[in-house]
Amino acid sequence: MARGREEYQARVAELQSFGKDLARRARSTCELCEEVREGLRIVEVPPAPKEPTWESCVLLCERCEKAVMAPGKIEKGEHWRCLAQSVWSEVPAVQVLATRLLRAQSDSEDWARETLDTVFLEESIENWVTEDN
Ligand SMILES: [Zn+2]
Repeated sequence: MARGREEYQARVAELQSFGKDLARRARSTCELCEEVREGLRIVEVPPAPKEPTWESCVLLCERCEKAVMAPGKIEKGEHWRCLAQSVWSEVPAVQVLATRLLRAQSDSEDWARETLDTVFLEESIENWVTEDN
């Protein structure tokens, strides 16, 4: 057990070391909703790779983190319209998360389905999106 805990703490420390670079990339706002500036946390895009890399991390607010961790339980609706912006992000990890959240509600939200229809995903991004299933 002790070993698992040490590994966990080492990982947390490693993620924290990405903080500065991530904050610069994100301009210190949540990278998904681009609204929240407070209480941002470093989140690994699930499934987390064996070795953490900063490319597989994003800076998210609490609400976005919850949704990203369990897209199936997302509270669907217009308040996620921010995704129509972030799905065009130049940051692959952000694009992946936005696409997952749009797909999670495309059955009931017309705007989400329409957004997805206009987005072209590189093959590598598409593969990353579906890796979670
Ligand atoms: Zn957010």
